[in-house]
Amino acid sequence: MKNTDRITLKGVIMHFKTITRHRHLVMKNCFKMGLYFQGLTHDLSKYSPSEFWNGARYYQGTRSPNTRERELFGYSRTWLHHKGRNKHHFEYWIDFYKMGDGENHGIVPCRMPDKYVAEMIADRVAACINYRGSEYDSWDSWNYYQKEKVVSKYLVHKDTLNKLEFFLKMIGEQGEAATFKYIREIFLKGKDKGRWERELEESLN
Ligand SMILES: [Zn+2]
Repeated sequence: MKNTDRITLKGVIMHFKTITRHRHLVMKNCFKMGLYFQGLTHDLSKYSPSEFWNGARYYQGTRSPNTRERELFGYSRTWLHHKGRNKHHFEYWIDFYKMGDGENHGIVPCRMPDKYVAEMIADRVAACINYRGSEYDSWDSWNYYQKEKVVSKYLVHKDTLNKLEFFLKMIGEQGEAATFKYIREIFLKGKDKGRWERELEESLN
């Protein structure tokens, strides 16, 4: 695929197809977890002018258009727009923190609500299936995560990282179907009270 930094009809069509295909896969995953509203609204900001036209302009085919944008400008405006509006990205959950006594802790990662942790899992699995096609393996999401882990641990709340690792490992071991069912019934709905907390704890030891 040639690098074209102008908006072309091909870029527009291909980018539209890519984000729509991804959204449908995430929607399917989210529905399996019982997250209907999140499934329907996942990544909708990708169709907003701020994100869509850059995505089409820097369309690459084999990698994210954001990567190309970073190459050119040192950062991706599209990504900054995206992560500021989509709660399923842990990068969204970064804020300043001041204690009750007014002590300033600077920029800190905050806990991510469980329903967004679940959507993040749905997103990562869908991205791996999309990129890897017939080569897809249930450990792909885990392996991808291992590469970003080094930097992520300072910017992501420990609680979020623990849950993310717990579920990515479960997907590797048991596959998506079993994990999505577990997320829906045990993690989100709290069936077998205390079970996932206990199993998470055990996985950390
Ligand atoms: Zn997203």
